[in-house]
Amino acid sequence: MKAAIRSHQMFVGGDWAPGSGGEVQEVKNPATGEVIAQVPKGTPADVDAAVAAARKAYEETWFDSTPRDRSERLLKLADAVEAHGQELARIESENVGKPLAATISEEIPPIADTFRFFAGAARLLEGRAAGEYMTGFTSFIRRESLGVVGSIAPWNYPLLMAAWKVAPALAAGNTVVLKPSEWTPLTALRLAELAADILPPGVLNVITGDGEPVGAGLVRHPGVNMVSLTGDVATGKEVARAAAATLKRVHLELGGKAPVIVFDDADVAAVVEGIKVGGFFNAGQDCTAATRVIAGPGIHDSLLADLVPAVNSLHVGDPTADDTEMGPLVSDEQLDRVAGFVDRARQGGAKVLAGGSRIDKPGSWYKPTVVLPPAPDAEIVQREVFGPVVTVQQFSDEEQALAWANGVDYGLAASVWTRDVGRALRMARRLQFGTVWINAHIPLVNEMPHGGYKQSGYGKDMSIYSLEEYTQIKHVMASLD
Ligand code: NAD
Repeated sequence: MKAAIRSHQMFVGGDWAPGSGGEVQEVKNPATGEVIAQVPKGTPADVDAAVAAARKAYEETWFDSTPRDRSERLLKLADAVEAHGQELARIESENVGKPLAATISEEIPPIADTFRFFAGAARLLEGRAAGEYMTGFTSFIRRESLGVVGSIAPWNYPLLMAAWKVAPALAAGNTVVLKPSEWTPLTALRLAELAADILPPGVLNVITGDGEPVGAGLVRHPGVNMVSLTGDVATGKEVARAAAATLKRVHLELGGKAPVIVFDDADVAAVVEGIKVGGFFNAGQDCTAATRVIAGPGIHDSLLADLVPAVNSLHVGDPTADDTEMGPLVSDEQLDRVAGFVDRARQGGAKVLAGGSRIDKPGSWYKPTVVLPPAPDAEIVQREVFGPVVTVQQFSDEEQALAWANGVDYGLAASVWTRDVGRALRMARRLQFGTVWINAHIPLVNEMPHGGYKQSGYGKDMSIYSLEEYTQIKHVMASLD
């Protein structure tokens, strides 16, 4: 029996709104290909309405809120996320194809913790001491909110990415217009519903629709003070270009192509487990995914001998089954993109050691895949596939490993696997990535910053550093006369 299609509205100024254009967009379950919901297809008028609501809330309530008030509301939001964790996880799983059990255990707790962390951080923002830096004057620093923040989220972790943006923005005293991905708007809308009783009207608005005109409309809008995007590098460049017209602040969390550098002395079993989880969690649709294994000459063959059967043994299937480790890709478009990368690599001389093809059933399914690329400059090594595809290269020495690891446009995350402490620290120093793990890959924690080097973007999510993005510094200087 087919599930009923749920119709949603946008959340603007504390009310549900149908969208001014009257058009809707279908939302699918990628595990079955079925349409599960429809949301309004936003228009420029919807962007205007949401920005006006956020501006009004900023000026009339949120601007005067105290850190303690904001903190208490964020704590309530964390509690609400936790209390509705099973439901949020089920919506996310249905909309993205994520294994349900892992969504409950691995995604909901850090989402609640993001709101809790920023609830605490809101009360601990520091500045330098006031003082007399010029005779006869006292100077001090005010750390202030920016105003209205446009938050634009991707589809791979829809609610987690929304939390990473919304929590620090609100904690710092800004109001928010959140635009989730057109493919995965459902948990953001549910979050708005949960927040309706916790935040004053207009403090958090959620509008749905496409990148153009809704996301881009936020970027162009003169009433938006800052845009925070998590998305593709190409989108980041467009956003940065468009934001230049109003010189608004931009925070860009973009793609990645994380190297996994494995030295000969590494623990093979730990590396295999690290790649199995780090490369294939969320079907590899993760900006920090362990996608490029770069292995030493003494370990390369034994690593492959263990990695290929481990990848072939991954349980791929029904996201609601308890033992499922990998679900489908998010959409048919993403499936075509991933298949295209692997097909072109094969044509270019790559060897496919595991997977390398679609799974023939309704929905957007692809097998977990291991590829030996033909060369370090091959497309499959250089570009983000954003799917369950891991490449393995063999390096000859530490310098080559480092050159290959750094030899991509991205710089989000990397891992080094070795028992040699000096080498691990040498590599951590020279790797041009915003996060470097040693003998691990993928864990993140709210106290620590997450953000890119190079074309993976600028600005930090998570941690106290994120609050720097969402605040501005004012110097107040008073004459002592
Ligand atoms: P995407 O860039 O296609 O879309 C992201 C969001 O931007 C969507 O909401 C989309 O509607 C909107 N958008 C598209 N064009 C726009 C425009 N011109 N102006 C304003 N908004 C626009 O990315 P995606 O496919 O949804 O997500 C996958 C990408 O996100 C991958 O590259 C991945 O690496 C990246 N990502 C990065 C991080 C990180 O922390 N660095 C985390 C998760 C995902």
